[in-house]
Amino acid sequence: MNKFIKQAALEVGFDACGIAKADLLIEDAGFMTQWLSEVQHGSMSYLERNFEKRTDPRLLVPGCKSVIVVLLNYFNAENQPEGAPKFAKYAWSASDYHQVIKYKLSELENLIVKQYGNECFNQQVQHSFVDSAPVLERRWAQRAGLGWIGKHTQLIANGLGSYCFIGTLMMNAETNYDEPSPDRCGKCTRCINACPTSALNGRSLNARKCISYQTIENREEVEPDIRGKLSGRVLGCDICAEVCPWNKKWATNHRHSELLPVGEILKHKNEDWENLTIGEFNSIFKNSAVRRVKYQKLMENISYVSGKNINTDI
Ligand code: SF4
Ligand code: SF4
Repeated sequence: MNKFIKQAALEVGFDACGIAKADLLIEDAGFMTQWLSEVQHGSMSYLERNFEKRTDPRLLVPGCKSVIVVLLNYFNAENQPEGAPKFAKYAWSASDYHQVIKYKLSELENLIVKQYGNECFNQQVQHSFVDSAPVLERRWAQRAGLGWIGKHTQLIANGLGSYCFIGTLMMNAETNYDEPSPDRCGKCTRCINACPTSALNGRSLNARKCISYQTIENREEVEPDIRGKLSGRVLGCDICAEVCPWNKKWATNHRHSELLPVGEILKHKNEDWENLTIGEFNSIFKNSAVRRVKYQKLMENISYVSGKNINTDI
């Protein structure tokens, strides 16, 4: 079954797949308790909810025995025009990656059901997840043998690097499991040294300091002490990924037509973004995950980077 599922995952278009036994994530539970108590998650209060379910998939999906983890490479080696406000590569896709992965997960599930029966999944509850708060996806990917969690707290996928989306499928059937991946960061500290806001300490990420959190998740304005350190980033941040030697070694262009970039991201210059209207924003990011960050927030971020007072009235 393990072999069948992995082969099926590749057939529906994922770049890698691994399977872990559904179990309590004891170490992560302790770590998260500490991290939340220090309010390092900023205003992401949803991370405080469903704590038990987040650390034990058997509580999230009754009957769950196995966690199938899939990866989708989104790396694109192209660059935005020199001096343009930078968008993290995960946000370049014209289609919302959540939808792309959800669709592929449903195709994978159908193949498993066809081969092994409907009882493989608990159809009464949600059992497939993409970027979803109740699932510690990176840890499951590590347990499923797909890679390790680097000091920048991202998954570094074996042979792919860290520019990967992660999806999970909770399965009620048992199968053979993959060996967890070992940590291969060694003595390297490049990501910690490169982070412009000192958000990394080698073990965890202080989300309140992270540019990614400040430019996307934080619904309020970017905090004043971070504004001058955005390093040209207006939506997410790839600095710690860019310096990682494993990405230099492994990251190669993705092959997914569904993840082709929004044309304007590769063409627009600084002044195009500074003068972006809400109509243009809605049209450019019509089906993109960027729509989750509102126009006003993006324009505020652009104004911090450009140092100009941009009119964000809508
Ligand atoms: S995403 Fe940017 S700000 Fe956040 S930890 Fe990495 S380098 Fe630092
Ligand atoms: S830059 Fe070095 S320490 Fe950071 S994730 Fe990559 S290998 Fe690990």
